[in-house]
Amino acid sequence: MIVVENGHVVTVGGDEYPAGHVVIDGDRIVAVGPGAAPPGEYSERIDAGGCLVTPGLVNTHHHLYQWATQGFVPDGTLFEWLTGLYDIWAGMDAEVVADAAAAGLAWLALSGCTTTTDHHYVFPRGRGDLFAAEVAAARRIGLRFHPCRGSMDRGRSQGGLPPDEVVEDTEAALLATEAAIDAYHDPAPGSMLRVAVAPCSPFSVTEKLMTEAAALARRRGVRLHTHLAETLDEDEHCRAQFGCTPGEYMERLGWLGDDVWFAHCVHLDDADIARFAATGTGTAHCPSSNGRLGAGIARVAELLAAGAPVGLGVDGAASSELTPLAGELRQALLFQRARSGPRALTARQALELGTLGGARCLGRQDEIGTLAPGKLADLAIWRLGGFHAAVADPVTALVFGPTPPLARLLVAGRTVVADGELRTAPQDAVAAGGVRARDRLLGGRP
Ligand SMILES: [Zn+2]
Repeated sequence: MIVVENGHVVTVGGDEYPAGHVVIDGDRIVAVGPGAAPPGEYSERIDAGGCLVTPGLVNTHHHLYQWATQGFVPDGTLFEWLTGLYDIWAGMDAEVVADAAAAGLAWLALSGCTTTTDHHYVFPRGRGDLFAAEVAAARRIGLRFHPCRGSMDRGRSQGGLPPDEVVEDTEAALLATEAAIDAYHDPAPGSMLRVAVAPCSPFSVTEKLMTEAAALARRRGVRLHTHLAETLDEDEHCRAQFGCTPGEYMERLGWLGDDVWFAHCVHLDDADIARFAATGTGTAHCPSSNGRLGAGIARVAELLAAGAPVGLGVDGAASSELTPLAGELRQALLFQRARSGPRALTARQALELGTLGGARCLGRQDEIGTLAPGKLADLAIWRLGGFHAAVADPVTALVFGPTPPLARLLVAGRTVVADGELRTAPQDAVAAGGVRARDRLLGGRP
């Protein structure tokens, strides 16, 4: 058993203990409380003095392969950015994905993430098993992983945005998605890997693929994910192609429910928010990416007030370069306040978005997202000494300030980060792999 003691423990959704303890047995938490831990046979004592102890952060939207294409189309809208990058992404292979994913996952771990999704939707033919490559990277870095098998089947010749070379045949995409579920999805309690079904977006996917993807996910008992209502361009595209808003389109396709979470949802109207709340449909809020692409500010405060699940996401690194997940706590808070005033979101609400809110989006609120006996031992222990200690309240320091270093990051009771460094793989080699991925993908391009 491991004991974490002397830290400021924030359980999220429950109590806070200014000098508390957490006891871990195997991959589970067995005790959380104030003061010293009960006497026992502990294999390790982690002194969290001067530290804030929180549930590990949950990242609800990402495209790990994009680590290889950071910094491109720096001033473009979403559609300009996508159009500028599709041709580059078409050159991706399994080696690029392996290296880019490892770097992206390590970066997440270093900012307090213990569970992450990934949404991979570009599968050029004959380039190796890209999905297997990212699964292997997640096992290497040691994060709990919810990869979403994405797909696109609506190229330019059918009125879609992506070039025809990067889209798949509808049936082939569905078969490959089911094969990924067969190969990797683990529904057992404590699972380290669950697969979701995730056609890319209304403007790159046919109605047939959207409908059959939902049927597949429900037949196999897995979750559904896609991009939705990210920009006004998408809104216009939806109205022109389908005669309705993106939210109405999802309702028509049977894509609302407590087994669905959408990325972005920036442009929701009041009826959409009511639909999301009534059905338990989740939102992955990605404020840095929305800011970078000038997409707008999601109505997070209204979604929360209505009772809809909301988590945080960094989105792919190509639209939010080097974004630390803990930094999204701050971005979410500042965006809501800039839009709706200083009481729109509190520091503790922001922390809840990044933990329990994300767990709800992934359907794992019974296992992760809070610190309580019986829950999985996914913990972030933030070092708030030095300059950070000048802020009286540690949650305020974490959310309002820059991302502090981690004293420790535990996933299922296993150390992934210690003293601000990755411990599951050589950090410098993983970082170098991220550069190698870019060089391999870009080849001779300027
Ligand atoms: Zn995205």
